[in-house]
Amino acid sequence: MTSDEEAVAGARTAFAGTFGGAPEGVWAAPGRVNVIGEHTDYNGGFVLPVALPHTARAAVARRSDGRVAFASVQGDGSVVELDVSELEPGRPDSWAAYPAGVVWALRERLDGGGVSVLLESDVPVGAGLSSSAALTCSVALALRDLAAPELGPPDLVEVARRAENDFVGAPTGILDQSASVLCTAGHALFLDTRDRASEQVPLDLAGAGLELLVVDSGVTHEHAGGGYGDRRRECESAAERLGVAFLREVDDVAGLGSLADGTPEGDVLFRRARHIVTENARVLEVVAALRGDADPRTIGPILTAGHESLRDDFEISVPLLDAIVESATAAGAYGARMVGGGFGGSAIALVDHDRIDAVVAAVTERFAREGQDAPRTFTAVPSAGARRLA
Ligand code: ADP
Ligand code: MG
Repeated sequence: MTSDEEAVAGARTAFAGTFGGAPEGVWAAPGRVNVIGEHTDYNGGFVLPVALPHTARAAVARRSDGRVAFASVQGDGSVVELDVSELEPGRPDSWAAYPAGVVWALRERLDGGGVSVLLESDVPVGAGLSSSAALTCSVALALRDLAAPELGPPDLVEVARRAENDFVGAPTGILDQSASVLCTAGHALFLDTRDRASEQVPLDLAGAGLELLVVDSGVTHEHAGGGYGDRRRECESAAERLGVAFLREVDDVAGLGSLADGTPEGDVLFRRARHIVTENARVLEVVAALRGDADPRTIGPILTAGHESLRDDFEISVPLLDAIVESATAAGAYGARMVGGGFGGSAIALVDHDRIDAVVAAVTERFAREGQDAPRTFTAVPSAGARRLA
């Protein structure tokens, strides 16, 4: 990741090189990892993300010609440009749909004007760390400051959610955008996605001699395709059969009995729902431990239990993610689990600071045995949410 000064300088230079002139400001929004609470967000449940030190930066300037233009330092060098009035879901349909969706959601606030947006990001893309929400949230914050000052943080979350769900067509829940906007340094964000109530839970891993290691499996996932949407539909079917609006409303596994009707389909829905019910309980257990005086090491086994549930009941892990969890825990991690939407992406491991090298070596060795290059790893220091840098 980059220091704020370097980030501002880099974004200004890239903006000038692409659009000429100076941006009116530079805004940053982070990626995230979820400590626990996976796939609960679209079930009205609980999540506990931390913001990463890695951010997307948006250098933005208003323009008076009613055009919007987007460029990304990580993109192919092309500038995507069109009239604000031409924005509609599916147009543009490239990576630029993410920032375009934010402009679209706030188009009435531009009063016939437009914007030039230069994006630069060090959030790993497609690694389950929410590079997409980092983009949308950085642009949402920029447009708030430039054109819609009355919008509060919950409104920004909503604008970024609409950009992803309604414009891009990516069926994400509210976790990614909430984490990117609402997280604060040194804390995990305990969010109830049903009423969007949130609480900052102190998470001083360094003080306890611990690190939250992130290992990118290198297997990229695709939200739009397949598995994620299937799981959402299965959860909806399970809720419908149980007669509840959201699976969140089921408090314990005993309440799922009627799903297991002896048919293969019933068995699948039972296991999907059991993941959601037990995962919500795991979030509450972790929050209780962190709120109290418990040693944060005690949350390790809860993370590993969460992985097993994602692997066996929700069936969204892949062999390399399982390999990370197995090799990290065998090498001394207190717990580990895959994170994000599944079918690839990253895993986290809770590790003593002085065991990090041994755990990374063990995971790397396991990857080598599987014929894979050494995975990218870094420590997730709970960092600040979206903010203006300059
Ligand atoms: P994740 O959010 O887990 O990283 P997504 O599939 O939700 O994965 O979002 C990844 C997509 O976001 C990329 O395919 C690309 O379209 C867009 N994206 C993210 N970061 C950038 C960037 N720096 N430049 C251009 N597009 C980006
Ligand atoms: Mg995403």
